[in-house]
Amino acid sequence: MRRALIIGNWKMHKTVAQAVGFARELSAGFTARADRDVAIAPPFTALHALSAVLKDTAIALCAQDVHWELEGAFTGEVSAPMLLEAGCRYVLIGHSERRRGSGESNEDVNRKAKAALRAGLAPVICVGETLDEREAKQTFSVIRRQLKEGLNNILADDIGRAIVAYEPVWAIGTGKTATPGQAEEVHDFIRQFLERMNGTEIAAGTCILYGGSVNPDNAGSLMAQKDIDGLLVGGASLDAGSFRKIIDY
Ligand code: PEP
Repeated sequence: MRRALIIGNWKMHKTVAQAVGFARELSAGFTARADRDVAIAPPFTALHALSAVLKDTAIALCAQDVHWELEGAFTGEVSAPMLLEAGCRYVLIGHSERRRGSGESNEDVNRKAKAALRAGLAPVICVGETLDEREAKQTFSVIRRQLKEGLNNILADDIGRAIVAYEPVWAIGTGKTATPGQAEEVHDFIRQFLERMNGTEIAAGTCILYGGSVNPDNAGSLMAQKDIDGLLVGGASLDAGSFRKIIDY
């Protein structure tokens, strides 16, 4: 009942010209699949150009961040309606690189998620524990707090449009993927949390992505897990051939 979703997060990579070249290569001969959705998350600068290149394709656009206000004196920020106008369908929120590098809190994540939903974007809310937290056996308490505070007071009608991405911090950009069993254990925990919070139907319909050193060799075994509904791919999404193999897991 859940469609898979594979998102390529380019982080701060690719000029507009490089992004357009990639999008043309990826979309050539790419047809919509009934069981999965695909999106790429380029830097803000490339969103507008890519929305034109991808207009008649089955590849959607995702932004890497959003501000919670509609407009105002917020230098360097971009609002949810601006992202929608630029052609985005999704937006990443609370990526660990923003939590760590820009001090983003669970409260910020919550405000951003609400702003995205209000504008009609699907927020991809990223959660995950550090290596120290995993070794201290705090994985579940960390994820519980991130979800509880990040999803606080989001209306039941809206929550069904939110996507959760489990990204263990120790697996991001390290080449150290969580084993399918380790990832499934946390995905199952997230699904149970969502069930307690929003009921069985919403929890069963929520797409939960895994991210952390996904590559063409491990994508299939991760996607074979019961509660892994999709993938958030960093480094391996920068090359169209490698990303295509992951999409075709
Ligand atoms: C990410 O950026 O969300 C990510 C998971 O990166 P990587 O695939 O490179 O670990």
